[in-house]
Amino acid sequence: MTGKDLQGAGPQKLLSPVLSAFWDEPESWTLDTYRRHGGYQGLRKALDMAPDDVIAYVKDAGLRGRGGAGFPTGMKWQFIPQGDDKPHYLVVNADESEPGTCKDIPLLFSNPHSLLEGIAIACHAIRSEHAFIYLRGEVVPVLRRLHHAVREATEAGYFGKDALGPGRDLQITVHAGAGAYICGEETALLDSLEGRRGQPRLRPPFPAVAGLYACPTVVNNVESIASVPAIMDRGKEWFRSLGNEKSPGFTLYSLSGHVARPGQYEGPLGITLRELLDMSGGMRPGHRLKFWTPGGSSTPLLTDEHLDVPLDYEAVGAAGSMLGTKALQCFDETTCVVRAVTRWTEFYAHESCGKCTPCREGTYWLVQLMRDIEAGKAELADLDKIHDIADNINGKSFCALGDGAAAPIFSSLTYFREEYEQHITGRGCPFDHSRSTVWA
Ligand code: NAD
Ligand code: SF4
Repeated sequence: MTGKDLQGAGPQKLLSPVLSAFWDEPESWTLDTYRRHGGYQGLRKALDMAPDDVIAYVKDAGLRGRGGAGFPTGMKWQFIPQGDDKPHYLVVNADESEPGTCKDIPLLFSNPHSLLEGIAIACHAIRSEHAFIYLRGEVVPVLRRLHHAVREATEAGYFGKDALGPGRDLQITVHAGAGAYICGEETALLDSLEGRRGQPRLRPPFPAVAGLYACPTVVNNVESIASVPAIMDRGKEWFRSLGNEKSPGFTLYSLSGHVARPGQYEGPLGITLRELLDMSGGMRPGHRLKFWTPGGSSTPLLTDEHLDVPLDYEAVGAAGSMLGTKALQCFDETTCVVRAVTRWTEFYAHESCGKCTPCREGTYWLVQLMRDIEAGKAELADLDKIHDIADNINGKSFCALGDGAAAPIFSSLTYFREEYEQHITGRGCPFDHSRSTVWA
């Protein structure tokens, strides 16, 4: 696995990689390597602080959830009720499955101890003695690495009896899910972890109040928790010096699609796609960017007009999309947008858990119409129909999966309506798919 840093992006954007700093080293995943690079120093500092002070520190640092929603991590920890007699749990959401999103898996594969150290710090902060990692089940090599890392960390005393101080044990359970996208939704994940079919629960109550086994639970993404040790070790001011005021810090960007050098790029929030492409070799030779997703397929598409939008939560939102998971899927002019959106829609229809009607029925009908449009068998009125169906899913579904399914429909119609019309009036797809390496 290769992490690439963004040195050279201009003075305020210089950053040595943090999470991916030594992914290229042999045995990067071992405790020895991690400690050689300063690992577990952040935990040492955190354990010298009172739990509430650690929460305040992470809150002041301004870390926002890296799973897609960008919710402030310290604030989430603060929601855990204090002085109650129920156990508190930390659940790490490692069920990464959003199309295009591929940062947590390489992070876990190459540097699992950054997550384990973050878990120990978070458990100290929220007064938890049991953490769970819910991993996407298909990634068996990552599962093995995690088990190995947990064994090493337990033998070294970071987990187990009195790990957080006298009388404060810390247990960790690694659970492999069965590969349902919906189990990445935090409450479906909790149901699945409890042994039930994974379907979203009504919120509120949020997991912070009634989560795993109806106990106060923090559910955080892998990258969010893995970012905490560096904050504790290098300081909240250092973290705030990266990115910008509302979106501070470093992060992993997953660059994929028709780019010259796809991969994980680590840099500050607020960098632009143009800068990322400049440093990663650009689009594949002889081609130009047509459309891209800022954070996986559930975030509305953007186009080459948006190359200079800072990749932070506010700016991407103002441009009409969402930063999401920072999964930058880039498509060049050889890609048929109708075909791309059809594939994503098929994914959402397949992964819809069926609990609510707008998503269960709506995604099914979207697939039928999108396939007809792609094949040139639709009528122009069907464009209003897909917009209408997406409108009946968006904001009216039980969980965010429905909104995610609607997002590429709306945005592709906004920017590429003419291309949809061409499929209909020309009675077929005008693209030569053999020229596109992505949707062959
Ligand atoms: P959300 O904004 O509803 O919630 C974000 C987090 O904040 C949750 O943990 C929630 O419990 C907490 N929260 C929000 N309000 C709260 C309150 N009042 N009290 C206590 N806690 C509160 O977002 P979501 O529905 O959990 O997640 C949607 C996001 O997931 C999307 O933005 C999408 O980008 C992302 N996503 C990621 C993947 C992936 O593979 N990483 C897959 C699909 C979707
Ligand atoms: Fe299930 Fe879709 Fe409804 Fe979410 S929006 S609860 S995935 S049917």
